[in-house]
Amino acid sequence: MHQNYIKIDPWSLIEEGFNKEHVKSSESLFSIGNGSIGQRANFEEHYSGDTFQGSYVGGIYYPDKTKVGWWKNGYPEYFAKVLNAPNWIGIDVYINGIQLDLNTCKAVEGFRRKLCMKEGWLKRQFIATLQDDTKVAIESMRFLSLKDTELGVIHYSIIPMDSDAEVKVCPYIDGGILNEDANWEERFWKTLDKNQKDNYASVTSMTYKTEFEVATGMSVHFNKNGKPVDFDATYVETEDAVRFEQTFNLKQGERLTTIKFGAYCTSLNHVKSNLAKACQEKLMALKADDFNTLLETQIKEWAAVWDMADIQINGDDAAQQGIRFNIFQLNQTYSGKDPRLNVGPKGFTGEKYGGSTYWDTEAYCIPFYMATKNHDVAKNLLVYRHNQLDKAIENAMKVGLNSGSALYPMVTMNGEECHNEWEITFEEIHRNGAIAYAIYNYTRYTGDTSYVQEKGIDVLIAIARFWKERANFSKQKNQYVILGVTGPNEYENNVNNNWYTNYQARWCLEYCLEQLEALEAANTDLYQAAIQRNKLTTLERDTMQSVAENMYFPYDEELGLFMQQDNFLDKEIIPAAELPADQRPINQHWSWDKILRSCYIKQADVLQGFYFFKDRFSKEEHEKHFDFYEPLTVHESSLSPCIHSILASYLGRMDKAYEFYLQTSRLDLDDYNKEVEEGCHITSMAGTWSSIVEGFGGMSVKDGKISFEPTIPKQWDSYSFKINFRSNIIELYKSQTETKIKVNSDRALEVYLDGKMTKVEPQEVLTA
Ligand code: BGC
Repeated sequence: MHQNYIKIDPWSLIEEGFNKEHVKSSESLFSIGNGSIGQRANFEEHYSGDTFQGSYVGGIYYPDKTKVGWWKNGYPEYFAKVLNAPNWIGIDVYINGIQLDLNTCKAVEGFRRKLCMKEGWLKRQFIATLQDDTKVAIESMRFLSLKDTELGVIHYSIIPMDSDAEVKVCPYIDGGILNEDANWEERFWKTLDKNQKDNYASVTSMTYKTEFEVATGMSVHFNKNGKPVDFDATYVETEDAVRFEQTFNLKQGERLTTIKFGAYCTSLNHVKSNLAKACQEKLMALKADDFNTLLETQIKEWAAVWDMADIQINGDDAAQQGIRFNIFQLNQTYSGKDPRLNVGPKGFTGEKYGGSTYWDTEAYCIPFYMATKNHDVAKNLLVYRHNQLDKAIENAMKVGLNSGSALYPMVTMNGEECHNEWEITFEEIHRNGAIAYAIYNYTRYTGDTSYVQEKGIDVLIAIARFWKERANFSKQKNQYVILGVTGPNEYENNVNNNWYTNYQARWCLEYCLEQLEALEAANTDLYQAAIQRNKLTTLERDTMQSVAENMYFPYDEELGLFMQQDNFLDKEIIPAAELPADQRPINQHWSWDKILRSCYIKQADVLQGFYFFKDRFSKEEHEKHFDFYEPLTVHESSLSPCIHSILASYLGRMDKAYEFYLQTSRLDLDDYNKEVEEGCHITSMAGTWSSIVEGFGGMSVKDGKISFEPTIPKQWDSYSFKINFRSNIIELYKSQTETKIKVNSDRALEVYLDGKMTKVEPQEVLTA
């Protein structure tokens, strides 16, 4: 049974009624972010119940010393973590001397929380009965500015309901924050300084080891029944925190509003000596009324995001809410404005995965950002890896590959490997394939060859070198094999010849050689420079060619199927549908040993390859592999249902495609994997987008032209989306009876629709 307390609404998340059991889940789901900073939906006032407090600042991380039982050579020194940052949202409230705390008050009525995805704000309201029977109504609203990404705003009102009351309000900044997942229970932050002037106060903190500095500030205004009240608060400093305290005598029904502006100014964007000053200037320049101006701007900014990125689904509000939630969270996580940042699997909604960069970015996120934003955004994600090439070469040396091979980390913050599970760090080498694939994907989609010619070629050569060096020639098989790996399916470790990995390896080698030829033909100077820079010899190229041509792929003649790895058929093959419901998810019920020897597949593995290289396999091969592997897949990675939805659409299995679509798009809202309390699955949300655009919409690029083969689930009346294809905005509308394609461009565009090419004039609507 999935969670179902979030009300279905096309543009919002709504929770009604206070349930302590839902607090942590809602803290994840109602998270807010602006691409640079983000926070879980923690309450402003104190909450003594079970909660997971989280505020995060993109790019500010800590190398948490690795904790392993038995150290082995090559283990990464640390696991990088985006830190739980100083908290600026806190407002302690005392009513007649009793602290407002939803965990301890006598009753909570009319609790309602709303995340408005359309306009980018979070609201909460309730009436609390305190221990002395005083009733107060609370209404709070907050958002993180999309425009000024250092800034956030809270509007917090208190109304005594059936008596007069003395209300003490204490807005504060707390720098004494710990990470829940700290390996050694160490503090990651050191408080450097505290400042206060008038209604402004801040804490300046520094991260240990990495020495990032952050000034976290607030400026506070009060008003009563809409009219400003003099700021006359007492300022209190403790070791790591600053707070204001002001007491008000309110008559029954009077409304006291606290307007709290908060900001993070970091050494990523300011010189260290100027941090506190920058924070102070920003916050002191704001007046109480600026709340409204900032809100108007916020609404406009989000309108612009939605104008390009929205997907409309008519006739199915649950599906509509699902896709908008995914698009909203992706935009809250990464805006593409800063090439130093990337897309952490949990974004700003939790600590798991440390806010680091995974293969998820290249394998899942690139298509979304490429199609819904300016192409520079996707390019920034490629440049991020190019900037880390030297570290990837060092990383390969650490595992004993010394020929200039690059092994990109499975998990990274600054280019160094920073994950400490051996099976993942050393064995999931398939990530190198996704990084090369992203260059191909970007180039074919945008038509921009400059990136691959100038920078990407270095990445491709170093990755091809890796596969050449990592594969070894098996005399017995008379072919190249790749031993001791973990494929995308993390429920099998140290396997030989994972089909997906070998396929990626061959493809990377071929693609690199092909790009070298293309570069030689297009621009001799750039080509010569690349050859010299990389000291690439003809002999090395010949070896790359030979490894590619002679790569081994496990195949079972009898079944006519590629095998996930050499020994897959030794396993006892029993469909996942036969597993008792109380044993799912298996990763929460089975020992690791039992999982590893089972046939159950965590996420698309062979089928991930079929997705990437769809056109290289016949429909019949697609059918057979889907029918064999999908029933063994338990989809315990969020990255799984989307790929299966796309492939099911391609095979015309619309019921399956729809079922997987709901699973991917509502994975967190309905908490399919029973772990949403830890945070939302941000990177798989890009896969949700793909399951509509590439899955139902059948979008692909054919010979440099955009192509659609649209289908529609029977549950929907219609759907529509826009994509930015080579600076032309193309809109696809599909209903049960018709398809329309509109091209918003200044020139005619050739478009494939169901395999037939048509020239569409600017503003013309192609109907089928
Ligand atoms: C998946 C990986 C993924 C990681 C982060 C894991 O559960 O198996 O493929 O990279 O989560 O999203």
